Amino acid sequence: MFQYDYLIIGAGLFGSMFAYKAKLAGKRVLVIDKRPHVGGNLYCENIEGINVHKYGAHIFHTSNKDVWSFVNSIVEFNRYTNSPVANYKGKLYNLPFNMNTFYQMWGVKTPNEALMKINEQRNSAIEKMRGEGISTPRNLEEQALSLIGNDIYEKLIKGYTEKQWGRSCTDLPAFIIKRLPVRLVFDNNYFNDKYQGIPIGGYNIFIKNLLYKVDVNLNTDFFSNRIYWENMAEKIVFTGKIDEFYNYCFGKLEYRTVCFEEEIHDCTNYQGNAVINYTDKSVPYTRIIEHKHFEMFGLEVDACPKTVISKEYSMEWKEGMEPYYPVNDERNSRLYQQYKALASQEKNVIFGGRLAEYQYYDMHQIVEKILTFNL
Ligand code: FAD
Repeated sequence: MFQYDYLIIGAGLFGSMFAYKAKLAGKRVLVIDKRPHVGGNLYCENIEGINVHKYGAHIFHTSNKDVWSFVNSIVEFNRYTNSPVANYKGKLYNLPFNMNTFYQMWGVKTPNEALMKINEQRNSAIEKMRGEGISTPRNLEEQALSLIGNDIYEKLIKGYTEKQWGRSCTDLPAFIIKRLPVRLVFDNNYFNDKYQGIPIGGYNIFIKNLLYKVDVNLNTDFFSNRIYWENMAEKIVFTGKIDEFYNYCFGKLEYRTVCFEEEIHDCTNYQGNAVINYTDKSVPYTRIIEHKHFEMFGLEVDACPKTVISKEYSMEWKEGMEPYYPVNDERNSRLYQQYKALASQEKNVIFGGRLAEYQYYDMHQIVEKILTFNL
């Protein structure tokens, strides 16, 4: 007789959601995590009264009403709307590309004027390529130029993309950019989803409520005593790295990572927005996040005397770094399929989440998966 029905490895969103659902179904659940805190990458640290997103800025967004109702039943979400701004050589542009951006870029004031300008830019790029004998874009640069033209590509796409990928846009495949949606309205709301926001009081409350009355062991690495933990429960939910689960028998999966440089400033408002992208390549970081703007609005901003910012650097992943984004190239996709074939033979192990499925998931996708999962 096992002590628990489920041993959940990882107290991130997948593990915490699974624990909540299993507990609700009357199952005995134990969650372990190697980190000293729950929440996985959603974890926030309170610094100077501000919830600092320690593993990168997280904004919840979804169009699924069930998902939105569910998360709001765990904790109420605020009205934060993601509207990032780009800084290119000191000049500011609204994102995503919309009438505000086009006004800032070219001074155009109507949708018709903007469309004419975009088409003029695109056509001149396409004609230039044709003159060089290029009929289909061979790389990301040519693709972007043919979709949006030179000005927006040079100022808002090129440097940022090259920092993100650590490679020149001429060395990146064209398929990375399939479309470049433009909005001919004055709307800076980044997401197209119906609902978005941040849990009131922060993500830690959201996770704490999911794990209410669930047994949790922190600072506990499954692999440090694998047999002991395997004998603890009838079933295992594994949300760690799938290649590690199989002792890297086919080789190691690769990731891209992000590093953060955190600064506390003695002012109430550093940049006036949660997210500012630095699109010029000569600035080494990709974005500056000012955390208080996720949860403080209007007079609340000034009522909090300090502010915390994070400069975000995109990097190649090395052993020991946080594995953030899977690399969807041929080698890694093939390797993952080999591990997945092994995983599909397991009867008592459920593999879930971004590391075990080697797939980028937004938070709402994880919530949706668990809500529709049959225990
Ligand atoms: P994780 O949060 O990584 O949780 C896995 C947990 O397993 C970790 O706590 C880890 O310590 C633990 N673990 C691993 N191995 C072991 C082991 N051997 N023993 C014990 N414990 C172990 N999504 C959005 O919807 N909006 C956003 O704005 C957004 N921004 C993001 C920004 C960044 C920089 C990144 C990387 C992701 C972002 N996401 C965002 C995606 C979001 O982070 C994921 O959807 C979510 O974290 C996935 O949860 P998870 O449980 O699968 O993984």
